[in-house]
Amino acid sequence: MMSGIRGKDTRPELTIRRALHRAGFRYRLHVKELPGKPDIVLPRYRVAILVHGCFWHRHECHLFKWPESRVAFWQVKLAGNHASDVRHLEALRRDGWRVLVIWECALKGRERLNPENLETRVLSWLSGKSGFAQIRGKADAASS
Ligand SMILES: [Zn+2]
Repeated sequence: MMSGIRGKDTRPELTIRRALHRAGFRYRLHVKELPGKPDIVLPRYRVAILVHGCFWHRHECHLFKWPESRVAFWQVKLAGNHASDVRHLEALRRDGWRVLVIWECALKGRERLNPENLETRVLSWLSGKSGFAQIRGKADAASS
């Protein structure tokens, strides 16, 4: 099956949770009441962290490849996923949530960040004021 983060408690997500925990942050997981059911929510800080699988969320990166069969089905399916992502992000921002999207390619694969680097980026974003940011694999950092 396609690679992607779908299930709960995937290892890459655990890396982030451990880092938050160590830094003293308390969080809730997979919060159904919020748009997009964010993976990690820090209610005290009004922060929602979404861990996006690059396939399911149609990320432009080396982890994403169009399937070779049922192409039309996947185009519709992934376009729908993408539209939901946009809607959920807007809803969260409108309600005053700060949102951090962490892409799967930052967590696994050849472009993944090293864990300390990832941790530093997450924690420094948390301590800042930015309402929205994304963390992705290294290729992007080099090209943009
Ligand atoms: Zn990606």
